[in-house]
Amino acid sequence: MSAFLPAPSRRGARAVARALPVLAIGVAVAIPVAASAGSSYKPNTSVGHAPGHARNVIMFLGDGMGDSEITVARNYAVGAAGRLPGLDAFHNQGEYTTFAVREDAPASPDYVTDSAASGTGWATGRKTSNGRISTTAGTDRDLPTILEIAKAAGMRTGDVSTAELTDATPAVLASHVSARGCQGPADMAACPQDAKQNGGPGSIAEQEVDHNVDVLLGGGQGRFTQLNTGGKYTGQSVVAQAQAKGYQYVTTAADLAATKAGPFKKVLGLFSAGNMDLELTGPAAVPYPGNPAARCTTNAARTATAPHLADMTTKALDLLSTKRGPGFFLQVEGASIDKQDHAANVCGQIGETLAFDEAIQAGLAYQATHPDTLVVVTADHGHTSQIVEAQTDTDHSPGDIVTVTTADGQPMIVNYATNLHGRSQSHTGTEVRIVASGPQSDRVMGTTDQTDLFRTFRAALGL
Ligand code: MG
Ligand code: ZN
Repeated sequence: MSAFLPAPSRRGARAVARALPVLAIGVAVAIPVAASAGSSYKPNTSVGHAPGHARNVIMFLGDGMGDSEITVARNYAVGAAGRLPGLDAFHNQGEYTTFAVREDAPASPDYVTDSAASGTGWATGRKTSNGRISTTAGTDRDLPTILEIAKAAGMRTGDVSTAELTDATPAVLASHVSARGCQGPADMAACPQDAKQNGGPGSIAEQEVDHNVDVLLGGGQGRFTQLNTGGKYTGQSVVAQAQAKGYQYVTTAADLAATKAGPFKKVLGLFSAGNMDLELTGPAAVPYPGNPAARCTTNAARTATAPHLADMTTKALDLLSTKRGPGFFLQVEGASIDKQDHAANVCGQIGETLAFDEAIQAGLAYQATHPDTLVVVTADHGHTSQIVEAQTDTDHSPGDIVTVTTADGQPMIVNYATNLHGRSQSHTGTEVRIVASGPQSDRVMGTTDQTDLFRTFRAALGL
């Protein structure tokens, strides 16, 4: 499970790139990087026009995964001339704009979005202001989400993340609150109107359970163990609420693996108190002159009983997949690409990007045997990390830098300079990559907007 890229040898970069057989962070079946030979899934064949209807949608969301974050991970893991077997496997590719709108002037753009407003974009097809979860800017009205629409059509639904399940990206599909911080029943100070005792739908955790999302996997026990303060389950935890509503509750990879695919029963899997642990660790980014070049290492402090993102993805697909009738809508988030970009932690960021890549590989493997599945991979906003030139005494970044040795055996200097040293780095307002394969995947091509993805889902599913 801990198979990790070998240290680069002294051979030339091309030889090293070719010699690297696998990209593996804890997934059972590693996929050869060298495209076709030996792959356990067929390369996606959607090129250009992709007609037909999708029974299923798998939406992969890399939080804060701009082009730069993808390139950092690619250089590190497979070299500059290598290709990541998940992220780089798609032909139908576009860019989409991600801006939010202003709370006090909803007709005006806010150029840098957060995950709440951006997620609301693809979840509902509508722009909102930063911090809002599927509610309208200024007027605080609930917006119907693609998960709710899919559910109403009889589809199964899943929401998977390496963050707390109540974090913004998983939240936008199955809850409506005015402030993203309202994650558990004890966190409602910023949105009292949404609390159940005040006639609202409750915290994000309560709403996710009340939405009967069939598969909920991620972190965030600390939100779900809070006690309901209003409604039918007053005085009981959200976990107890879920169990009363028919959920199997699991907290380890082994227990998750033991859940049965049918007759179908809902699953709530919470594998950490807060966000799930990181895959990789390594040198910190600091002001010039920085650190000697180093490789990242496996995070020994990672909770051993927790599943990896690819494990959760594979299990979610197993639980959601049906032979007949309506299909499923599943979202899978690699959440801590963003969180480690904020923290200027390059190895943390790389490890989460590679774990996300492995989850995508699991999705593509499913699609290979279920071609009526639309797979979309995108991000919610750009972020800080930039690959920069060699730094000198006279010319160097005023921010933090960190140097890692890539699969090419070369130093890669990564710069974090959207905030002061030691402070949280900032999102950026750039457009980001969107790729897709399967029915209607050509709709992501060209330059689109985040809200267009909601319409792509509806068109593909015929909803
Ligand atoms: Mg997120
Ligand atoms: Zn962020």
